[in-house]
Amino acid sequence: AIKAQYSSSPNYVPDSNFYKVEAIVRPWRVSQISLALLKIGIRGVTISDVRGFGAQGGSTERHGGSEFSGGKFVAKVKMEIVVSKDQVEDVIKHIIEEARTGEIGDGKIFLIPVADVIRIRTGERGEIAERMTGGRSEMVNAA
Ligand code: ATP
Ligand code: GLN
Repeated sequence: AIKAQYSSSPNYVPDSNFYKVEAIVRPWRVSQISLALLKIGIRGVTISDVRGFGAQGGSTERHGGSEFSGGKFVAKVKMEIVVSKDQVEDVIKHIIEEARTGEIGDGKIFLIPVADVIRIRTGERGEIAERMTGGRSEMVNAA
């Protein structure tokens, strides 16, 4: 049942060349997620330590990883990954595979159109700026 949801297409979101996949996940799953992304050539990832509440409310993580007591917010990690349109579904699929425990508190993924990407070092914009050396598009083209 979960698998069918993987194949949903992002065509209902505003069309864009680039998207930001923003995933709020359990802190103790982050290294597995980033390793899985690295394996498919996703090398540009930004993470932040955040705190939040959702259906999990303020209940303590059952799987450890975050010490929490008293307040209402649970420690999570926000992963932000900007990718080209054709890479969005693969990234989402891998995040779900690595982040999912089936318990409340697994997190959520937001998909956000990105207007442009600018590489500060060179001033490059758009497709050239978004591509990374050894990144997924190079891997796919080489195959
Ligand atoms: P350069 O070629 O100048 O090194 P770069 O594109 O490799 O540029 P970095 O300057 O290495 O980018 O990246 C700086 C930071 O930007 C990274 O540590 C990461 O946090 C973030 N970042 C880079 N690319 C992405 C991306 N596609 N998605 C999310 N975060 C990114
Ligand atoms: N789309 C980039 C590439 O193919 C990779 C983006 C990323 O690593 N976040 O090189």
